[in-house]
Amino acid sequence: MKSAIYNFNAGPSILPKTVFEQAAQAVLNFNNSGLSILELGHRTEAFQAVMNEAISLVKELMQLDADHEVLFLHGGASTQFFQVPMNLLNENEIAAYTDTDIWGAKAIKEARLFGHVEVVGSSKEAAYSYLPKNMIIPKTAKYLHITTNNTIYGTQWHDMQPFYEAGVPIVADMSSDILSRTLDFNKYDLIYAGAQKNVGAAGVNLVVINKNLLGKVDRKLPVMMDYRNHIENGSMLNTPPVFAVYVCMLTLRWLRDQGGVAAIEKINDQKASLLYSTLDQLPIFKGTAAKEDRSKMNATFVMDNADLEKEFLAICKENNLVGIKGYRTVGGFRASLYNAMPLEGVKVLTDLMKDFAQRKG
Ligand SMILES: *Cc1c(COP(=O)(O)O)cnc(C)c1O
Repeated sequence: MKSAIYNFNAGPSILPKTVFEQAAQAVLNFNNSGLSILELGHRTEAFQAVMNEAISLVKELMQLDADHEVLFLHGGASTQFFQVPMNLLNENEIAAYTDTDIWGAKAIKEARLFGHVEVVGSSKEAAYSYLPKNMIIPKTAKYLHITTNNTIYGTQWHDMQPFYEAGVPIVADMSSDILSRTLDFNKYDLIYAGAQKNVGAAGVNLVVINKNLLGKVDRKLPVMMDYRNHIENGSMLNTPPVFAVYVCMLTLRWLRDQGGVAAIEKINDQKASLLYSTLDQLPIFKGTAAKEDRSKMNATFVMDNADLEKEFLAICKENNLVGIKGYRTVGGFRASLYNAMPLEGVKVLTDLMKDFAQRKG
């Protein structure tokens, strides 16, 4: 018998097996209605219930206060790179940005179309291998934009206190670590996340907004770009990505049934500590991120010898471990340890690493 497949892809990525099964069933026969979820009108009671449950699960799992609204929007996280400044930043105003990965750099580029960007910290010169510390965030900034987890280079902010103390609204791209660890989500004024990494299927974006922040820019906004219109319409301003929202709802239910964010965080900590402790024991593998900034979601590592890298990739493939290859411009390895990855998958990977190191070392 072939061993189980473990999918370490960075996104779209692994989801709970029960979610795949329920989603597949809903494509054939949604809630015993005889209809597929794919042919269901988005204004039907049946779909309205899906949207309502998805929104209320996000509020429950993140313990959001009444000022924070939840939206499921189109266009992926990359659309938020410009929708955020469009809604929050006037042309003559400043926003503070951190430049900690390719995604953060893209967000900066888009924000510059709408106002002034002050880059308050960057690790670009060191191939984004660490996170800048002791940043000075101007009090005049309309907001501070951070990327909480840097999917490509494998770093993650662990001490959020300096951000909370900056005294300006915080906007966070949480695409690759949303709902993976306990945070005081109410301290963030705007959170966005492409769903395909830790929340569901590709095609939808989870956005959480403190509504008090809105309505303060001078520019005219296209209807679809104005967050207020989406809030007023319960995230149903136009046809939402029905199936993608449904998959998010199932994944959020699964997370609640696991015990919520605090419970999954414990398992995520175990997975990350197993992987990194293995990495540090085996000189043949080298972690690429500064130890204190290592991501618990995307672990990046390399070998000195490109032939050995190829060999190890082939061994992973033979053993049904998929998606271990590093980002196309970075190389090496990246193991993504999202919520749905069981500890067992990391055990299989680390056993292969140990075995390989013993044979080659
Ligand atoms: C994947 C990713 C994005 C881009 O997401 P899209 O939905 O493809 O636009 C943005 N930010 C981070 C941190 C990501 O990991």
